[in-house]
Order: sequence, then structure tokens, then C-alpha cells
Amino acid sequence: MKFARFLHNGKSFYGIVDQRICPVTGDIFGEFQISPEGFKSEEVKLLPPCQPSKIILVGLNYLDHVKESQSSNVVPEEPVLFMKPSTSVIGPDETIFYPEGVERLDFEAELAVVIKGRCKNLTPSSVPDHILGFTCLNDVTARNLQKKDVQWTRAKSFDSFCPLGPFIVDKIDVSNSKIQSYLNGKLCQSSNTNRMIFSVEKIVSFVSQIMTLLPGDVISTGTPAGVGPMQPGDTVEVFIENIGTLRNYVKKV
Ligand code: MG
Repeated sequence: MKFARFLHNGKSFYGIVDQRICPVTGDIFGEFQISPEGFKSEEVKLLPPCQPSKIILVGLNYLDHVKESQSSNVVPEEPVLFMKPSTSVIGPDETIFYPEGVERLDFEAELAVVIKGRCKNLTPSSVPDHILGFTCLNDVTARNLQKKDVQWTRAKSFDSFCPLGPFIVDKIDVSNSKIQSYLNGKLCQSSNTNRMIFSVEKIVSFVSQIMTLLPGDVISTGTPAGVGPMQPGDTVEVFIENIGTLRNYVKKV
């Protein structure tokens, strides 16, 4: 099933995407009914597909990205976690704002997990029962600030630094999906989620030992090699097989 959030005539809805986008009544994270009357894609504006209370991300989860981001090839023993605020989330076709004082602004294509229901202390084998689905995330990073600061909060948390979407898709094989990024149509990252160091199940279980997860919370699983800088005027795309393309535009604040 493919879930979306969208605006139609100024009202926001959750919906199911098939040939058309059909609004749902009820709770997308629980019981819901699908309206038989849908809209054409050009009649709606897609929103971020969920409204997370928090976004937890894993740094250094693809071996090739570990190699490009540090001089050593030391693989983390446990997932390296950081967070972005809910206010950093933007949807498909929205603008990533290039802040004043940032000298290098990078894209990072990532597979993100959307949590289905409140949960804590999950075993890896129970994780799939607690996932609504998967979506694309761009972990936009002010690289010069990340290098300057001891920790990553400032570099990762500006408004618009968490593009998310376009849809949440369930029942895809996230242990073997193509993941790519494009800058102005040129392929920059091209990998497969089978190259992750820690699996989706391991990461979600690990995070759930620390904090209670709520419906719509997002956990992002790291980026492969090939990250690079964006400039104002650029178009950046994250593509994941069987989910789709998340496209955003970069502009000066
Ligand atoms: Mg990242």
C-alpha cells in the first residue's frame, strides 16, 4: 500500500495512492476507510507523508560512506545516532533554504522508516510489526558546521533540512533496494540498501531501547558514498526503488 499526505482545496488529508489519490477517514496508523472518490495527482499538492514528533538518523551506516567521510576505515560497533527537529521537515517539491554562513551544503540520500504505533524495547524480529512503511529522506547537512562543531545538531537542524516523501510504501524489500541521488539530473549516489552495516530491524530495535517511538516518527538509515555539495538554483532528487523520487529545490534564504 502507498500512503500520502496531501492538500486539496486548502484542507490536508492522508490518502492511499493507486491510479488516483483517495482520501481516508479514520486513523492512517490504525483503523481507516478509503474513500471511493479519489483525486488526480495534478489536483493535489503532496505534503510530507507524515508528521513525526522526532526524526532519528544513523550516521555512517554504509561502509563506502565511512571511507569517504573519515581517514580511517573504522566501522562503528553500534549505530551512531543523531536527531533532527520536527521543524526541519519539508515535503516533495518544496525548497531547501541555503542558510547564511554555510559554506558547504550537502545532500545525503537515505531510506527512512515510518513508525506505525507507540512502541518501546523492540526485539529485531518484532520490528516489522511496528513499521507503517518506508520513504525517501534527504539528510541535508551543513558540512562545514558539522566539521567545526563537536556534535552535529546545528549542521543538521536548520528549517528545511529534512525533505521527506513522496510516499510511504509498505511491503518492500528494504534489505535489497536501489538507492540513488541526482543533482540537476546527474547521478551522484548509486548504491543498494543491501550494503548497510546495520539492518533496518537492528537500527529500529536499537533506537527503541533508548526512547519511546510514536506513530509517524521517522528513523533514517544512513547514506551511501557519493554525497556532495548543492548550490542555490540546484534541483536535488533522492530515488529509492519501489518508493519513488523525492525532488527539492535549493534557494538562498
Ligand atoms: Mg546522513
